[in-house]
Amino acid sequence: MLGLTTFAETKTMKIHPIDTGFFKLDGGAMFGVVPKIIWSKTNPADDNNLCTWAMRCMLIEEGNRLILIDTGIGQKQSDLFFGHYHLHGEGELHKSIQAAGFHSNQITDVFLTHLHFDHCGGAIQRDAQSERLVPAFKNAHYWSNAQHWQWATEPNPREKASFLKENILPIQESGQLKFIERTGQFQSTDLGFEVFFVDGHTESMMIPVMQYKGKKVAFMADLLPSVGHLPLPYVMGYDTRPLITLAEKEIFLQKALDEQWVLFFEHDAQNECCTLKQTERGIRAERVFSFGEL
Ligand SMILES: [Zn+2]
Repeated sequence: MLGLTTFAETKTMKIHPIDTGFFKLDGGAMFGVVPKIIWSKTNPADDNNLCTWAMRCMLIEEGNRLILIDTGIGQKQSDLFFGHYHLHGEGELHKSIQAAGFHSNQITDVFLTHLHFDHCGGAIQRDAQSERLVPAFKNAHYWSNAQHWQWATEPNPREKASFLKENILPIQESGQLKFIERTGQFQSTDLGFEVFFVDGHTESMMIPVMQYKGKKVAFMADLLPSVGHLPLPYVMGYDTRPLITLAEKEIFLQKALDEQWVLFFEHDAQNECCTLKQTERGIRAERVFSFGEL
């Protein structure tokens, strides 16, 4: 019996939120057509109209795999570049992985929701000796998908500043790149979780949805950056196809409400997670809580 119990426990997924620090982005750009007088109630801006956002990643223990979802902004950009984003907070990717009980060399898979710099910058680092750009997780496969990879490596002028070559090309050069094959909007993967594909923010962004403690937990990436983005028209100005985002939010939120999912926010500086409820004005947060309370 003891053996069986141990086996069952090792098969159970464990999830750790990974704090990689905070940055600032223009509040208006983050809320699109929504007026400041409204969005500033949930997301107060500083004198330069900038709001604070988290870059909260996730570490998943699943069977023999140790899977990192997104990597934050990383450390290799110039001071000039980082100066635009006002990085702050104690969190750092590798330290947070260590605090969860692991070394970065133990990561088997790095799953990148999309290749905007605040999601994949930590995937690549500068080697101290050779100065070459190399994967920060040398024993991991890096997961993207063919549609998004092509979009990111041949960027349109509007998104070009978000797709940095130094974050992307070394992944392929290292031979560690793998693609999730896109077969539908909501599909299973070999990584132990499902993926919801969306095209409004950027082409073929992937939203991982895990089965955890009897519930589904969705890693929201840039489909819903924060609790303040729950109302349908609250779509980021950065989105390439805002009307598609609107439709995708509607489908996603209805499914998440019907099945009582937990939403895990990558960018919300205050709130890690929420559940949902139906209100007269639409679907809104029911309970907001930290992941450890789940
Ligand atoms: Zn993005």
